[in-house]
Amino acid sequence: MHIPTPELTALEDILPTEPLLMMGAGPVPIPEPVAKANSIVINHLGDTMAKIIEQVKQMSRYVFQTNSKWIMGVAGPGSAAMEMAITNLIWQDTKVLSITNGFFSGRLAEMARRVGANVEVFSVPEQQIANLDALKQTIEIFKPEVITLVQGETSNTVCNKNLEEVAKLAHNYGCYVIVDAVCTLSTMPLQMDEWNIDAVITGGQKGLSSIPGVSLIAFSERAYQRIHSREKDCPQWCLDARLAEKFWHQSSYHYTAPVSGILAIHEALALICKETLENRFARHQRCSLALQRGIEALGLKLFVPEAARLNSVIGIEVPNGIAQKALCQHISNRYRVEIAGSFGLNIVRIGQMGEQSRAHHLFRTLHAFGCAIRDLGGDIDLPTGMAELERGLQAQYSDNF
Ligand SMILES: *Cc1c(COP(=O)(O)O)cnc(C)c1O
Repeated sequence: MHIPTPELTALEDILPTEPLLMMGAGPVPIPEPVAKANSIVINHLGDTMAKIIEQVKQMSRYVFQTNSKWIMGVAGPGSAAMEMAITNLIWQDTKVLSITNGFFSGRLAEMARRVGANVEVFSVPEQQIANLDALKQTIEIFKPEVITLVQGETSNTVCNKNLEEVAKLAHNYGCYVIVDAVCTLSTMPLQMDEWNIDAVITGGQKGLSSIPGVSLIAFSERAYQRIHSREKDCPQWCLDARLAEKFWHQSSYHYTAPVSGILAIHEALALICKETLENRFARHQRCSLALQRGIEALGLKLFVPEAARLNSVIGIEVPNGIAQKALCQHISNRYRVEIAGSFGLNIVRIGQMGEQSRAHHLFRTLHAFGCAIRDLGGDIDLPTGMAELERGLQAQYSDNF
């Protein structure tokens, strides 16, 4: 043997003794049934798997709010599901209008460029959502075949609150609409059929509260006809929906499915069905708004004005004199709470996706956040912040619960 065995540190010595509370922009904490399912390996083909896939599709139809049969999974991150939507519906010279107001909507545009599409970027000013009149004009001039956008821009915490209007407008011009809902699906309303959306993308580790690495996508009937009738094969073999159809709709082999991850997502979807979408949306809104109230009462500023503010991930301006990176490191090391920095902006982000939206996590997180800022020399009012969080939760309890 020329290569000696490496000297290793045991995993338990690398991992923190007390798990970190994952309150960043994903991955998020997973519920016990999801963790348990994720530890099981079964045959990727056969009757047991077929039953599980059937249920995953049924539950997905509820979560995506679609009657379309074309639900599929993909062994890969949310980005793989994004690429599956792009590479199946878009090819050389397809005219694509990319509504871009952040990092992830920009990624959709980049993916479309890479398959040779003619991409026009509809750039939305920072901290705003797309203006419908301007969008209509651009559609009339450019005449896109496909429009891409993101429901919740995790990167800068902007929410395209007029998604329904954008999708309906695009549909009126015959465009196919691709929506990235990785961050938002099951945390806030998205009506795939009613809003005329042709492809909805989600990942595991955000709104769904499953594990990273297994993602779901839903195509409308109309989108699937486009895929079925395309002349050239999709250039990516693994992401080819016509091949994925074998596993997801014919119980046969495409590639070995990520069985444990599919079992995990089955459990995550089952928990959503049990909770119901109505209750889940209400829980997310209640928790996120109360946390926002608490953060403001600490004396801090939220990054995005309410008209475009995302609830699923909260963006907070870093106070003067404190370094973003030091803040994230300190809250993690000292308080065992993980929050996220940001791509190029001087904000930190606290997630409100799935299991993150639980009252006990909110109290621990806000307390840790306030203490961390205070430790680093910031001037905040911690008792008022904590009290406002409690008031925020109570006010909404008495209104709706
Ligand atoms: C996280 C995220 C993605 C990418 O997901 P990965 O699993 O990291 O590939 C795409 N879009 C949005 C809106 C996201 O929040």
